Amino acid sequence: MVHRIQAKTILSRLKAAPDPYFGITYSMNLYRGCQHACIYCDSRSKVYQLGDLSDIRIKENAIDLLHQELKVKRRKGTIGTGSMNDPYMPVEAEEMLTRGALSVIRDHRYPVHVMTKSDLVTRDVDLLQDLSRNYAAVSFTITTPYDTVSQKIEPMAVPSSKRFAAMEFLAQKGLYTGVILTPVLPFITNKPEAISELVKTAAGCGAQYVIGWMGMTLREGQREYYYAQLEKSFPGIQKMYQQRYALEYSCTVPNAAECREAYYSGCAQIGLPTKMHFYQENDPKQLSLFENF
Ligand code: SF4
Repeated sequence: MVHRIQAKTILSRLKAAPDPYFGITYSMNLYRGCQHACIYCDSRSKVYQLGDLSDIRIKENAIDLLHQELKVKRRKGTIGTGSMNDPYMPVEAEEMLTRGALSVIRDHRYPVHVMTKSDLVTRDVDLLQDLSRNYAAVSFTITTPYDTVSQKIEPMAVPSSKRFAAMEFLAQKGLYTGVILTPVLPFITNKPEAISELVKTAAGCGAQYVIGWMGMTLREGQREYYYAQLEKSFPGIQKMYQQRYALEYSCTVPNAAECREAYYSGCAQIGLPTKMHFYQENDPKQLSLFENF
C-alpha cells in the first residue's frame, strides 16, 4: 500500500556526527517504509515504531521542508540517505522525491552520500555529477555476488549483477562509488570464496572502496520476521541461529576470521580501500572545484 503524509522534519542530525563509517552528519528519509523487502531489514525493529515496512508513506512536503531546513543551517555536513529505506525503491521512479531532494542539496551546495540497492540511481547521474563537484558518494549495498542468493534475501531489490552494472556505469561517469558489504548473514552468505569474488567483481566494476562488516544485527520485531523467512527459504537454519545467538543483538558470523581474511586480503591484493574518504569542509581540492560550480 502507498499513501501520502505530511512530515514535520526531513533531516535529523546524527548524535556522533559525522559517523565513522559513512561520513554522514544528517540523515534524510523522504519515505517511510521500504519496498525492497530484504528479509534481514533492521527497519522492522520495534524501536523504530515503523509499523508494517511494506506500508509506503510518501512525505509529500519533503522537498519544501528540505529547502527550509537547509536555508537555516550554518555548518555543512554530509547528507546521507538510505539508512531506513531505499531512496531508489520502485515508487521513486514515479514520485521522484530523491531526484527533487538531490536538486535542492545541489542548490544549497551540501555534500551527499546515497546508499542504495537499486539501479534506478543511474537516472540521476546528471545531478550526481553536479553534486560531486562539491562531494557526492554513491554506495551500493551488495551482500552476495550471486543473483540466486540476492533474490532470496532481497526479493524486491534488483539482483546483485544489476547493482554491479549500475556501479560500473556511475564509475565510468566519474562518480565516487563503492560497495557496502553488510550484513553478512551467518550460515548463508558467510562464505570466504563468495566474499573474495564479491571484492574482485566490485573492483572490476570501478568500486573505489568496499566497506565490510562480517555479521548482522537482530532485534525484536526484525528477528521474528527474519526467522519466519528463513523457514521458507533456508529450512533448518533458524535453529542454528537460536542455538548460537539466542537474543543477542550483534551476531558476528561463526567463521569471522576467515571472512575477514577474504575481505581484507582480497581488498589489499587489488589496492581497494576498506574505508571511504569523507567530505572535508576546507579541502583545497574541493574548494577549487567548488569555485567553478
Ligand atoms: S533496502 Fe534497506 S531499508 Fe529497504 S528493505 Fe532492504 S535493508 Fe530494509
